[in-house]
Amino acid sequence: MTISLVWFRDDLRVADNPALLAAVADGGAVALYVLDEESAGIRPLGGAAKWWLHHALADLSSELAELGVPLMLRRGPGAQVIQTVASELGAGALYWNRRYGGPERAVDTAVKEWAAGRGLHTESFQASLLHEPWTVRTGAGNPYQVFTPFWRALSERDFRAPLGRPDAGHGFGGDLPVSDRLAQWALVPTAPDWSGGLAATWQPSAAAGQEALADFLASRVRDYSDARDRPDQPGTSRLSPYLRWGQLSPFQVWAALADLRSEGTSGPAVFASELGWREFCWHQLFHHPDLATTNLRRHFDAFPWQLPDATDAAYSGSAVEHLRAWQQGATGIPLVDAGQRELWRTGFMHNRVRMVAASFLVKNLGIHWCVGEAWFWDTLVDADAASNPANWQWVAGSGADAAPFFRIFNPLTQAKKFDPEGKYVNRWVPELLTSDYPQPVVDLADSRRAALDALAATKSSL
Ligand code: FAD
Repeated sequence: MTISLVWFRDDLRVADNPALLAAVADGGAVALYVLDEESAGIRPLGGAAKWWLHHALADLSSELAELGVPLMLRRGPGAQVIQTVASELGAGALYWNRRYGGPERAVDTAVKEWAAGRGLHTESFQASLLHEPWTVRTGAGNPYQVFTPFWRALSERDFRAPLGRPDAGHGFGGDLPVSDRLAQWALVPTAPDWSGGLAATWQPSAAAGQEALADFLASRVRDYSDARDRPDQPGTSRLSPYLRWGQLSPFQVWAALADLRSEGTSGPAVFASELGWREFCWHQLFHHPDLATTNLRRHFDAFPWQLPDATDAAYSGSAVEHLRAWQQGATGIPLVDAGQRELWRTGFMHNRVRMVAASFLVKNLGIHWCVGEAWFWDTLVDADAASNPANWQWVAGSGADAAPFFRIFNPLTQAKKFDPEGKYVNRWVPELLTSDYPQPVVDLADSRRAALDALAATKSSL
């Protein structure tokens, strides 16, 4: 019997998992998750993401146990850990589902080269994206810069049907090398334990992801086109963390949507195109591995954004005070504050409010989008290496197919339009009508003018 190692990464599910299927087909599968915070360029997870990962791994471990496949945990630089574990196990084959970030691909390439040198069979699979970035090109052979033609080209193609769960009884039953214990990794906060709001909001299991999908498709997707913009209504799917961690695959979502798409109503088609935005973000990250740190449109390098460091207690000044107010939901702008409090408490913020809160930081407060991106990275349960920076750059105007910088959201008008009865804002900012609520940290009209002046000055300096 060949011992096959299946390396889990952002694909924490047993159904529609081609790497797992390949491993069990060999007869003696062992699963491994590596907590890699050391390989060059790999971004350490934020706090909310670690919380989700802890629970997702616990869930995966019990799902795998039902199949008889043991899950090992190890911490360290990915390539080195894989080499060590494969050698300790005497593995004859190594399988994984592909990832698309630059540093992650470098690790995977190193593992492949090492395995080839030892005659160890390796195979990787497509599992996290409907189409891999190198397969989607414009007619001229370039990566797409604009979403609409990108999605038109993609959605006309066929996507494979989701794969089933493997049969039980093909796991490795022998003695295993030592594994870390999940608790040892201290992924969940203890002192203080700030995760109560997350636990009250989410069930981070693959089964809960499937239920959320079924529930959304049965009851809300038909109204999605309008309801998706309303933070006061449960109009969106809330599938993003399940997709981020691969507890749900885009193939599963696409297949479940198929019948509804053929009905011809707009909700399912608009929802499908949001999956397209997810693909577009990964497409961007693949072609620009430094998406989280570098303006895609380089003339924004000259824009005079401030880069305050809110963790530096010694630093004071309006930019850092503004940043702290934004992070804490105390800007005096109700919709922004409601969003930031929702984020802090639940690890999530509605998309419309993400756009408004991000625009306020980048345009009214004049703070660099990277600073906001880093805050979201630390606080979102769906913090995604592609979607987070791509969307921040979209809001800032520096990204691919971005909203033009001069289109500056007015957060008061946005609240009137998308939260007309104030339900969302009152839920998160109950002291709104009392004297405890702060005055706005900046004047909206003045700060808007200053942002447009800065844009004009940046352009004239080119
Ligand atoms: P739905 O409206 O139900 O959409 C279905 C799915 O489509 C989502 O689960 C998500 O996977 C995908 N999707 C929807 N909108 C987008 C989008 N604009 N870009 C990429 N994918 C999208 N999304 C993340 O998954 N992770 C992030 O770190 C993230 N950071 C963001 C930062 C900013 C500043 C902004 C403006 C948006 C960000 N988004 C991010 C995109 C979007 O806000 C979330 O995907 C969405 O709010 C998740 O809620 P939902 O699952 O109910 O979405």
